[in-house]
Amino acid sequence: MSRPICAQINLAALRHNLTQVRQLAPHSKIWAVIKANGYGHGIVRVAQQCSSADGFAVASLDEALILRQQGFLHRILLLEGIFQPEEMPLVEQHRLDLVLHSPHQVEWLLAYQPKFALKVWLKLDTGMHRLGFDPVSFAQSMLKIRNSLPQLRLNLMSHFASVTEDTVFTRQQQVCFEQQAKDYQCPMSLANSAALQRLPQTHLDWVRPGIMLYGAGIMPEFRSLFQPVLTFQTQIISLKWIAQGEAVGYGQTWVAQKPSLIGVAAAGYGDGYPRHAPSGTPVLVNNQRVPIAGRVSMDMLTLDLTAIAGAVNIGDPVVLWGEGLPVDEIAEKAGTIGYELLCGITQRVPIKEIEREPDHVR
Ligand SMILES: *Cc1c(COP(=O)(O)O)cnc(C)c1O
Repeated sequence: MSRPICAQINLAALRHNLTQVRQLAPHSKIWAVIKANGYGHGIVRVAQQCSSADGFAVASLDEALILRQQGFLHRILLLEGIFQPEEMPLVEQHRLDLVLHSPHQVEWLLAYQPKFALKVWLKLDTGMHRLGFDPVSFAQSMLKIRNSLPQLRLNLMSHFASVTEDTVFTRQQQVCFEQQAKDYQCPMSLANSAALQRLPQTHLDWVRPGIMLYGAGIMPEFRSLFQPVLTFQTQIISLKWIAQGEAVGYGQTWVAQKPSLIGVAAAGYGDGYPRHAPSGTPVLVNNQRVPIAGRVSMDMLTLDLTAIAGAVNIGDPVVLWGEGLPVDEIAEKAGTIGYELLCGITQRVPIKEIEREPDHVR
């Protein structure tokens, strides 16, 4: 590795965060959501550290097969079900938990006629209007499945649209779910990370934490309980003073108001640092917060290091997000969410696994 950038992944933090989820939802089973390559952390790596979860939730058959090939015997939930009817044999062969969100998927299932007592999760649209059955098609599909495939094990789920933004609407979704589910005695699941933290009454039989396993999307009241898993870090590769009135970077958007020390960090949008992060977005240099100055380039970031001019050298560590600097804070500055930043670290960034227990974290 020649360029100093890396994504440091704290394996102990993953295990710790899963333990914290258990304590927050002690009466529920846990689907550890590890879609999108474990939110960018590496699906197999995350599954290994979260092997005490009750199951893994993924977005596609391909991701489920990676886990099976690695020897994981856990239950695996296909969050969007299958995309083509040809996927059914592998779903059955690998005993995957299958989401059914639409009538066409039910038709595929009926046409395939599984022999095994497959576990299916009917997904109700309780107001998000992305995936899921409306009440009428839900009732029809339930009837068809019970008549034609009585051996299937039924489960019910739904997904919240605005847990943190709209408590009234979230409550409506919950009531909508309860009304449709009340006639059925089967396992149920509603809560993603936000609901898991804010709405204990939605925990039900299975919770579905994703982002919180990675130590992001943590509500202020739980911050001290969770640890960031991924620390995106690099080093200072250049230092120079510029005069008052001189500008920095493409488009010359940042102008020195006084003589300023400009540092360059080896990280840019080619690594997954968001190009939309404006001047003023913080990074940590030697554990001190300093602002980026000027536009993010493909391979480099320019920093205003004037405030720490006496205490910075070539090769000093720069934390872009992670320990000491929440990814959610950087995401907000860049007009996005922590999920997108974590999923967006690019292939060229090497991963370095570490083990650091929570007690040793600052
Ligand atoms: C991705 C996903 C989750 C996990 O959401 P987080 O906000 O990351 O906890 C839960 N349920 C479904 C259906 C999902 O698609």
